[in-house]
Amino acid sequence: MSKPDIAPPPLRNDCFALPAGVSWTPVDEALALLREKLTVVTGIENVPLMQAAGRILASDVLAKRSNPPQANTAVDGYGFAGPVPDGSCVLPLVDGRAAAGIPFRGEVPLGHAVRVLTGAALPQGVDTVILEEDVTLERGHVAFRGPLKQGANTRNAGEDVVEGALALPAGRWLTSADLALLSAVGVAEVSVRKTLRVGVLSTGDELVEPGDSAGPGQIYDANRPMLLSLVERMGFDPVDLGRAADDREALKLHLVQAAERVDVILTSGGASAGDEDHVSALLREAGAMQEWRIALKPGRPLALGVWGQTPVFGLPGNPVAAMVCTLIFARPALSLMAGAGWQEPQGFDMPAAFEKRKKPGRREYLRARIRDGKAEVFHSEGSGRISGLSWAEGLVEIEDGARDIKQGDLVRFIPYGSFGL
Ligand code: AMP
Ligand code: MG
Repeated sequence: MSKPDIAPPPLRNDCFALPAGVSWTPVDEALALLREKLTVVTGIENVPLMQAAGRILASDVLAKRSNPPQANTAVDGYGFAGPVPDGSCVLPLVDGRAAAGIPFRGEVPLGHAVRVLTGAALPQGVDTVILEEDVTLERGHVAFRGPLKQGANTRNAGEDVVEGALALPAGRWLTSADLALLSAVGVAEVSVRKTLRVGVLSTGDELVEPGDSAGPGQIYDANRPMLLSLVERMGFDPVDLGRAADDREALKLHLVQAAERVDVILTSGGASAGDEDHVSALLREAGAMQEWRIALKPGRPLALGVWGQTPVFGLPGNPVAAMVCTLIFARPALSLMAGAGWQEPQGFDMPAAFEKRKKPGRREYLRARIRDGKAEVFHSEGSGRISGLSWAEGLVEIEDGARDIKQGDLVRFIPYGSFGL
Protein backbone atom coordinates (compact mmCIF):
# COMPACT_ATOMS: atom_id res chain seq x y z
CA MET A 1 0.00 0.00 0.00
CA SER A 2 1.42 3.36 -0.93
CA LYS A 3 1.62 5.99 1.73
CA PRO A 4 -0.68 8.99 1.39
CA ASP A 5 1.01 12.18 0.38
CA ILE A 6 0.65 14.16 3.61
CA ALA A 7 2.89 17.03 4.58
CA PRO A 8 3.86 17.06 8.28
CA PRO A 9 3.39 20.35 10.09
CA PRO A 10 6.32 22.74 9.91
CA LEU A 11 8.82 22.50 12.75
CA ARG A 12 8.49 24.91 15.61
CA ASN A 13 11.36 25.86 17.81
CA ASP A 14 9.14 26.26 20.86
CA CYS A 15 6.68 23.45 21.38
CA PHE A 16 4.78 25.63 23.84
CA ALA A 17 4.25 28.40 21.32
CA LEU A 18 0.67 29.54 21.05
CA PRO A 19 -1.48 27.80 18.47
CA ALA A 20 -2.75 30.41 16.00
CA GLY A 21 -5.78 32.27 17.31
CA VAL A 22 -5.46 31.13 20.92
CA SER A 23 -4.96 33.82 23.47
CA TRP A 24 -3.39 33.10 26.79
CA THR A 25 -4.72 34.54 30.00
CA PRO A 26 -2.00 36.01 32.22
CA VAL A 27 -1.93 34.51 35.73
CA ASP A 28 -2.84 37.81 37.41
CA GLU A 29 -5.82 38.31 35.14
CA ALA A 30 -7.12 34.81 35.88
CA LEU A 31 -6.67 35.39 39.62
CA ALA A 32 -8.44 38.75 39.48
CA LEU A 33 -11.39 37.16 37.72
CA LEU A 34 -11.68 34.40 40.31
CA ARG A 35 -11.49 36.95 43.08
CA GLU A 36 -14.22 39.01 41.54
CA LYS A 37 -16.63 36.17 40.72
CA LEU A 38 -16.47 33.98 43.81
CA THR A 39 -18.28 34.61 47.10
CA VAL A 40 -18.47 33.08 50.56
CA VAL A 41 -20.59 29.91 50.56
CA THR A 42 -20.18 28.51 54.07
CA GLY A 43 -22.64 28.70 56.97
CA ILE A 44 -21.91 29.78 60.54
CA GLU A 45 -21.70 27.90 63.84
CA ASN A 46 -20.45 28.54 67.38
CA VAL A 47 -17.56 26.51 68.76
CA PRO A 48 -15.72 26.54 72.09
CA LEU A 49 -12.38 28.33 71.91
CA MET A 50 -10.53 25.08 72.62
CA GLN A 51 -11.79 23.67 69.30
CA ALA A 52 -11.38 26.81 67.25
CA ALA A 53 -7.80 26.48 65.97
CA GLY A 54 -7.79 26.39 62.17
CA ARG A 55 -11.34 27.72 61.94
CA ILE A 56 -12.31 31.00 60.29
CA LEU A 57 -14.00 33.76 62.32
CA ALA A 58 -17.46 34.59 61.02
CA SER A 59 -17.62 37.93 62.83
CA ASP A 60 -15.36 40.44 64.52
CA VAL A 61 -14.38 39.52 68.07
CA LEU A 62 -14.16 42.33 70.64
CA ALA A 63 -12.15 42.09 73.84
CA LYS A 64 -14.42 41.35 76.80
CA ARG A 65 -11.65 42.36 79.16
CA SER A 66 -8.42 44.34 78.91
CA ASN A 67 -5.07 42.61 78.72
CA PRO A 68 -3.57 43.00 81.21
CA PRO A 69 -6.77 43.55 83.18
CA GLN A 70 -4.91 45.63 85.77
CA ALA A 71 -1.49 47.23 86.17
CA ASN A 72 1.00 44.62 87.39
CA THR A 73 4.67 44.04 87.94
CA ALA A 74 6.82 42.65 85.14
CA VAL A 75 9.55 41.37 87.51
CA ASP A 76 10.17 40.00 90.99
CA GLY A 77 11.23 42.93 93.20
CA TYR A 78 9.99 45.75 95.43
CA GLY A 79 7.22 48.19 94.63
CA PHE A 80 6.70 51.79 95.75
CA ALA A 81 5.64 55.18 94.39
CA GLY A 82 8.12 56.50 91.81
CA PRO A 83 10.06 58.20 90.39
CA VAL A 84 13.37 57.92 92.23
CA PRO A 85 16.04 60.61 91.70
CA ASP A 86 19.72 59.91 91.08
CA GLY A 87 21.53 58.58 94.15
CA SER A 88 20.90 56.06 96.90
CA CYS A 89 17.43 55.36 98.22
CA VAL A 90 16.41 53.47 101.39
CA LEU A 91 12.75 52.64 102.00
CA PRO A 92 11.10 50.84 104.94
CA LEU A 93 9.25 47.65 103.91
CA VAL A 94 5.61 47.09 104.82
CA ASP A 95 4.51 43.64 106.00
CA GLY A 96 3.06 41.26 103.41
CA ARG A 97 3.55 40.89 99.69
CA ALA A 98 1.74 40.94 96.36
CA ALA A 99 1.91 37.77 94.21
CA ALA A 100 0.24 36.74 90.93
CA GLY A 101 -3.38 36.02 91.75
CA ILE A 102 -2.92 36.99 95.42
CA PRO A 103 -3.16 40.78 95.68
CA PHE A 104 -1.78 42.85 98.55
CA ARG A 105 -4.73 44.21 100.48
CA GLY A 106 -4.38 47.74 101.71
CA GLU A 107 -2.32 50.71 100.66
CA VAL A 108 1.44 51.13 100.64
CA PRO A 109 2.17 54.50 102.30
CA LEU A 110 4.26 57.05 100.43
CA GLY A 111 7.95 56.50 101.14
CA HIS A 112 7.44 52.76 101.81
CA ALA A 113 8.01 49.66 99.67
CA VAL A 114 6.40 46.22 99.43
CA ARG A 115 7.60 42.84 98.19
CA VAL A 116 6.08 42.09 94.72
CA LEU A 117 6.30 38.99 92.47
CA THR A 118 5.96 38.88 88.67
CA GLY A 119 2.37 39.21 87.49
CA ALA A 120 1.07 40.60 90.80
CA ALA A 121 -1.43 43.46 90.55
CA LEU A 122 0.25 46.66 91.72
CA PRO A 123 -1.02 47.45 95.24
CA GLN A 124 -2.51 50.87 95.91
CA GLY A 125 0.31 53.34 96.38
CA VAL A 126 2.66 51.43 94.04
CA ASP A 127 3.45 52.47 90.46
CA THR A 128 7.15 51.59 90.16
CA VAL A 129 9.21 48.44 90.80
CA ILE A 130 12.93 47.82 91.40
CA LEU A 131 14.37 44.42 90.43
CA GLU A 132 15.27 42.20 93.33
CA GLU A 133 18.76 41.71 91.84
CA ASP A 134 19.42 45.43 92.28
CA VAL A 135 18.65 45.82 95.99
CA THR A 136 20.15 45.17 99.42
CA LEU A 137 17.76 44.08 102.17
CA GLU A 138 18.60 44.92 105.76
CA ARG A 139 16.66 45.36 108.97
CA GLY A 140 13.23 45.70 107.34
CA HIS A 141 14.48 48.14 104.69
CA VAL A 142 15.22 47.91 101.00
CA ALA A 143 18.18 49.92 99.61
CA PHE A 144 18.97 50.59 95.93
CA ARG A 145 20.35 53.18 93.56
CA GLY A 146 18.34 55.69 91.49
CA PRO A 147 17.44 57.08 89.10
CA LEU A 148 14.31 55.07 88.32
CA LYS A 149 11.50 56.33 86.10
CA GLN A 150 7.96 56.29 87.34
CA GLY A 151 6.34 53.07 86.04
CA ALA A 152 9.65 51.23 85.66
CA ASN A 153 9.29 47.41 85.48
CA THR A 154 5.49 47.53 85.44
CA ARG A 155 2.81 46.87 82.83
CA ASN A 156 -0.15 49.19 82.41
CA ALA A 157 -3.73 47.97 82.41
CA GLY A 158 -4.82 47.46 78.79
CA GLU A 159 -1.39 48.21 77.35
CA ASP A 160 -1.79 45.13 75.12
CA VAL A 161 -5.53 45.17 74.37
CA VAL A 162 -8.20 47.49 75.77
CA GLU A 163 -11.63 46.13 76.72
CA GLY A 164 -14.09 46.65 73.86
CA ALA A 165 -11.36 46.94 71.22
CA LEU A 166 -11.22 44.70 68.15
CA ALA A 167 -9.27 41.60 69.18
CA LEU A 168 -9.55 39.77 65.83
CA PRO A 169 -11.48 40.56 62.65
CA ALA A 170 -14.03 38.44 60.78
CA GLY A 171 -12.26 36.25 58.23
CA ARG A 172 -9.34 35.54 60.52
CA TRP A 173 -7.99 32.01 60.21
CA LEU A 174 -7.42 31.21 63.88
CA THR A 175 -3.88 30.29 64.86
CA SER A 176 -2.59 28.87 68.13
CA ALA A 177 -1.45 32.37 69.12
CA ASP A 178 -4.95 33.69 68.39
CA LEU A 179 -6.36 31.25 70.93
CA ALA A 180 -4.01 32.70 73.55
CA LEU A 181 -5.12 36.22 72.64
CA LEU A 182 -8.84 35.39 72.75
CA SER A 183 -8.47 33.55 76.06
CA ALA A 184 -6.59 36.50 77.55
CA VAL A 185 -9.37 38.91 76.62
CA GLY A 186 -12.06 36.69 78.10
CA VAL A 187 -13.52 35.06 74.97
CA ALA A 188 -14.55 31.42 75.48
CA GLU A 189 -16.67 30.76 72.41
CA VAL A 190 -16.43 32.03 68.85
CA SER A 191 -18.69 32.25 65.84
CA VAL A 192 -16.90 30.53 62.95
CA ARG A 193 -17.56 29.46 59.39
CA LYS A 194 -18.53 25.86 58.78
CA THR A 195 -15.56 24.20 57.10
CA LEU A 196 -15.64 24.34 53.30
CA ARG A 197 -16.20 20.85 51.88
CA VAL A 198 -13.88 20.23 48.97
CA GLY A 199 -14.44 17.14 46.83
CA VAL A 200 -11.48 15.57 45.04
CA LEU A 201 -12.02 13.42 41.96
CA SER A 202 -9.41 11.80 39.73
CA THR A 203 -10.19 11.06 36.10
CA GLY A 204 -8.47 8.76 33.66
CA ASP A 205 -8.79 5.19 32.37
CA GLU A 206 -5.13 4.61 33.12
CA LEU A 207 -5.46 5.12 36.88
CA VAL A 208 -5.42 2.38 39.48
CA GLU A 209 -5.51 2.60 43.25
CA PRO A 210 -2.15 2.59 45.04
CA GLY A 211 -1.62 -0.95 46.32
CA ASP A 212 -3.65 -2.60 43.54
CA SER A 213 -1.90 -4.49 40.77
CA ALA A 214 -1.14 -2.28 37.80
CA GLY A 215 -1.17 -3.70 34.29
CA PRO A 216 0.64 -2.36 31.23
CA GLY A 217 -0.28 1.24 30.54
CA GLN A 218 -1.76 1.68 33.98
CA ILE A 219 -0.39 4.10 36.57
CA TYR A 220 -1.17 4.68 40.20
CA ASP A 221 -3.44 7.56 41.11
CA ALA A 222 -0.95 10.03 42.56
CA ASN A 223 -3.19 13.09 42.52
CA ARG A 224 -5.99 12.03 44.82
CA PRO A 225 -3.87 11.35 47.92
CA MET A 226 -1.92 14.55 47.25
CA LEU A 227 -4.93 16.77 46.62
CA LEU A 228 -6.96 15.38 49.54
CA SER A 229 -4.11 16.06 51.91
CA LEU A 230 -3.43 19.51 50.42
CA VAL A 231 -7.10 20.36 50.94
CA GLU A 232 -6.95 19.20 54.53
CA ARG A 233 -3.70 20.97 55.33
CA MET A 234 -4.94 24.18 53.72
CA GLY A 235 -7.73 24.11 56.31
CA PHE A 236 -10.70 22.71 54.39
CA ASP A 237 -12.74 19.54 54.75
CA PRO A 238 -11.55 17.01 52.13
CA VAL A 239 -14.14 14.69 50.60
CA ASP A 240 -12.86 11.73 48.60
CA LEU A 241 -14.94 11.43 45.43
CA GLY A 242 -12.89 8.53 44.11
CA ARG A 243 -11.99 8.00 40.47
CA ALA A 244 -13.98 8.36 37.28
CA ALA A 245 -13.22 6.60 34.01
CA ASP A 246 -12.77 8.54 30.78
CA ASP A 247 -16.43 8.16 30.01
CA ARG A 248 -18.77 11.08 29.84
CA GLU A 249 -21.78 9.39 31.45
CA ALA A 250 -19.73 7.97 34.32
CA LEU A 251 -18.14 11.31 34.95
CA LYS A 252 -21.49 13.07 34.79
CA LEU A 253 -22.90 10.72 37.43
CA HIS A 254 -19.92 11.44 39.66
CA LEU A 255 -20.38 15.19 39.34
CA VAL A 256 -24.14 15.02 39.96
CA GLN A 257 -23.63 13.01 43.14
CA ALA A 258 -20.67 15.08 44.27
CA ALA A 259 -22.55 18.34 43.92
CA GLU A 260 -24.92 17.15 46.66
CA ARG A 261 -22.13 16.48 49.13
CA VAL A 262 -19.59 19.25 48.67
CA ASP A 263 -19.25 23.01 48.21
CA VAL A 264 -16.61 22.85 45.50
CA ILE A 265 -15.05 20.12 43.37
CA LEU A 266 -11.42 19.65 42.34
CA THR A 267 -10.95 17.22 39.49
CA SER A 268 -7.65 16.25 37.96
CA GLY A 269 -7.06 15.07 34.43
CA GLY A 270 -9.21 15.39 31.36
CA ALA A 271 -9.14 19.15 31.39
CA SER A 272 -7.66 19.85 27.96
CA ALA A 273 -9.49 19.78 24.70
CA GLY A 274 -8.48 16.24 23.67
CA ASP A 275 -10.68 13.26 22.78
CA GLU A 276 -10.68 11.92 26.32
CA ASP A 277 -10.91 15.26 28.07
CA HIS A 278 -14.37 14.78 29.42
CA VAL A 279 -14.18 17.21 32.31
CA SER A 280 -13.86 20.19 30.03
CA ALA A 281 -16.36 18.68 27.58
CA LEU A 282 -18.98 18.19 30.30
CA LEU A 283 -18.53 21.65 31.73
CA ARG A 284 -18.76 23.07 28.25
CA GLU A 285 -21.95 21.06 27.69
CA ALA A 286 -23.40 22.41 30.95
CA GLY A 287 -22.85 25.83 29.44
CA ALA A 288 -20.78 26.92 32.41
CA MET A 289 -17.31 26.46 31.19
CA GLN A 290 -14.51 28.93 31.45
CA GLU A 291 -11.72 27.19 29.73
CA TRP A 292 -8.55 28.96 30.49
CA ARG A 293 -5.36 28.68 28.67
CA ILE A 294 -3.39 30.30 31.39
CA ALA A 295 0.07 31.58 30.63
CA LEU A 296 1.62 29.39 33.29
CA LYS A 297 4.22 26.67 33.49
CA PRO A 298 3.58 24.05 34.67
CA GLY A 299 -0.15 24.24 34.76
CA ARG A 300 -2.12 24.39 31.65
CA PRO A 301 -4.82 23.60 31.04
CA LEU A 302 -7.05 24.66 33.85
CA ALA A 303 -10.77 24.27 33.25
CA LEU A 304 -13.08 26.27 35.44
CA GLY A 305 -16.79 25.79 35.50
CA VAL A 306 -19.92 25.64 37.56
CA TRP A 307 -21.84 22.35 37.79
CA GLY A 308 -25.33 23.28 38.92
CA GLN A 309 -24.35 25.59 41.76
CA THR A 310 -21.03 23.94 42.49
CA PRO A 311 -17.80 25.44 41.22
CA VAL A 312 -15.48 22.93 39.59
CA PHE A 313 -11.73 23.38 39.26
CA GLY A 314 -10.62 21.11 36.45
CA LEU A 315 -6.95 20.72 37.29
CA PRO A 316 -4.38 19.30 34.90
CA GLY A 317 -3.71 15.57 35.26
CA ASN A 318 -0.02 15.96 35.58
CA PRO A 319 0.71 15.85 39.31
CA VAL A 320 3.25 18.69 39.22
CA ALA A 321 0.84 20.94 37.35
CA ALA A 322 -2.06 19.79 39.54
CA MET A 323 -0.21 20.84 42.68
CA VAL A 324 1.00 24.18 41.29
CA CYS A 325 -2.52 25.04 40.06
CA THR A 326 -3.96 24.05 43.42
CA LEU A 327 -1.57 26.31 45.30
CA ILE A 328 -1.69 29.25 42.93
CA PHE A 329 -5.35 29.19 41.83
CA ALA A 330 -7.44 26.91 43.99
CA ARG A 331 -6.12 27.97 47.39
CA PRO A 332 -6.96 31.68 47.25
CA ALA A 333 -10.29 30.87 45.61
CA LEU A 334 -11.20 28.22 48.20
CA SER A 335 -10.13 30.57 51.00
CA LEU A 336 -12.47 33.21 49.68
CA MET A 337 -15.35 30.73 49.42
CA ALA A 338 -14.57 29.50 52.94
CA GLY A 339 -14.89 33.01 54.39
CA ALA A 340 -11.23 33.84 54.95
CA GLY A 341 -10.95 36.26 52.06
CA TRP A 342 -8.48 36.10 49.23
CA GLN A 343 -5.16 34.79 50.52
CA GLU A 344 -1.98 36.00 48.84
CA PRO A 345 0.97 33.73 49.59
CA GLN A 346 3.89 35.53 51.20
CA GLY A 347 7.07 35.22 49.14
CA PHE A 348 10.66 36.23 49.87
CA ASP A 349 13.38 37.54 47.57
CA MET A 350 16.35 35.19 47.83
CA PRO A 351 19.60 34.91 45.87
CA ALA A 352 19.44 32.22 43.20
CA ALA A 353 21.73 29.20 43.42
CA PHE A 354 20.95 28.48 39.75
CA GLU A 355 20.99 30.01 36.29
CA LYS A 356 18.06 30.20 33.96
CA ARG A 357 17.10 31.97 30.80
CA LYS A 358 13.37 32.44 30.41
CA LYS A 359 11.37 33.66 27.45
CA PRO A 360 8.58 36.18 27.89
CA GLY A 361 4.91 35.28 27.76
CA ARG A 362 4.10 33.15 30.76
CA ARG A 363 4.77 32.85 34.44
CA GLU A 364 6.83 29.96 35.67
CA TYR A 365 6.94 28.12 38.95
CA LEU A 366 10.01 26.04 39.71
CA ARG A 367 10.22 23.42 42.44
CA ALA A 368 12.64 24.95 44.89
CA ARG A 369 14.07 24.99 48.37
CA ILE A 370 16.39 27.17 50.43
CA ARG A 371 19.84 25.91 51.39
CA ASP A 372 22.65 28.09 52.76
CA GLY A 373 20.56 31.22 52.22
CA LYS A 374 20.06 30.55 48.50
CA ALA A 375 17.19 29.26 46.38
CA GLU A 376 18.00 25.93 44.75
CA VAL A 377 15.78 24.48 42.04
CA PHE A 378 15.15 20.85 41.16
CA HIS A 379 17.57 19.54 38.55
CA SER A 380 14.77 18.83 36.08
CA GLU A 381 11.84 21.00 35.07
CA GLY A 382 10.06 17.96 33.59
CA SER A 383 6.47 18.24 34.69
CA GLY A 384 6.17 14.49 35.13
CA ARG A 385 8.88 14.45 37.77
CA ILE A 386 6.85 13.92 40.92
CA SER A 387 10.03 13.33 42.94
CA GLY A 388 10.83 17.02 42.43
CA LEU A 389 7.60 18.05 44.13
CA SER A 390 8.58 15.95 47.08
CA TRP A 391 12.18 17.25 47.04
CA ALA A 392 10.99 20.85 47.00
CA GLU A 393 9.99 22.94 50.02
CA GLY A 394 8.39 25.69 48.00
CA LEU A 395 8.21 27.34 44.60
CA VAL A 396 10.34 29.94 42.85
CA GLU A 397 8.02 32.27 40.96
CA ILE A 398 9.41 33.87 37.83
CA GLU A 399 7.37 36.75 36.48
CA ASP A 400 5.65 36.73 33.08
CA GLY A 401 8.34 38.67 31.21
CA ALA A 402 11.73 37.49 29.99
CA ARG A 403 14.48 36.88 32.52
CA ASP A 404 18.08 35.92 32.40
CA ILE A 405 18.79 34.73 35.92
CA LYS A 406 22.40 34.48 37.06
CA GLN A 407 23.77 32.98 40.27
CA GLY A 408 23.10 35.38 43.14
CA ASP A 409 20.31 37.32 41.38
CA LEU A 410 17.23 37.76 43.55
CA VAL A 411 14.31 35.44 42.82
CA ARG A 412 10.97 35.18 44.56
CA PHE A 413 10.71 32.07 46.76
CA ILE A 414 7.33 31.08 48.16
CA PRO A 415 7.67 28.41 50.86
CA TYR A 416 4.99 25.73 50.95
CA GLY A 417 4.24 27.13 54.41
CA SER A 418 2.99 30.34 52.78
CA PHE A 419 0.20 28.29 51.25
CA GLY A 420 -0.86 27.10 54.68
CA LEU A 421 0.93 23.75 54.31
P1 AMP B 1 -4.67 14.48 31.32
O1 AMP B 1 -4.76 15.88 31.85
O2 AMP B 1 -5.83 13.64 31.69
O3 AMP B 1 -4.39 14.49 29.85
O4 AMP B 1 -3.39 13.83 32.03
C1 AMP B 1 -2.09 14.37 31.83
C2 AMP B 1 -1.07 13.40 32.38
O5 AMP B 1 -1.23 13.27 33.76
C3 AMP B 1 -1.18 12.00 31.81
O6 AMP B 1 0.13 11.48 31.68
C4 AMP B 1 -1.94 11.26 32.87
O7 AMP B 1 -1.70 9.86 32.85
C5 AMP B 1 -1.39 11.90 34.11
N1 AMP B 1 -2.36 11.80 35.20
C6 AMP B 1 -3.66 12.15 35.16
N2 AMP B 1 -4.26 11.92 36.34
C7 AMP B 1 -3.31 11.43 37.17
C8 AMP B 1 -3.31 11.00 38.51
N3 AMP B 1 -4.42 11.04 39.25
N4 AMP B 1 -2.14 10.54 39.04
C9 AMP B 1 -1.02 10.48 38.30
N5 AMP B 1 -0.95 10.90 37.02
C10 AMP B 1 -2.09 11.35 36.44
MG1 MG C 1 -6.65 11.85 31.24
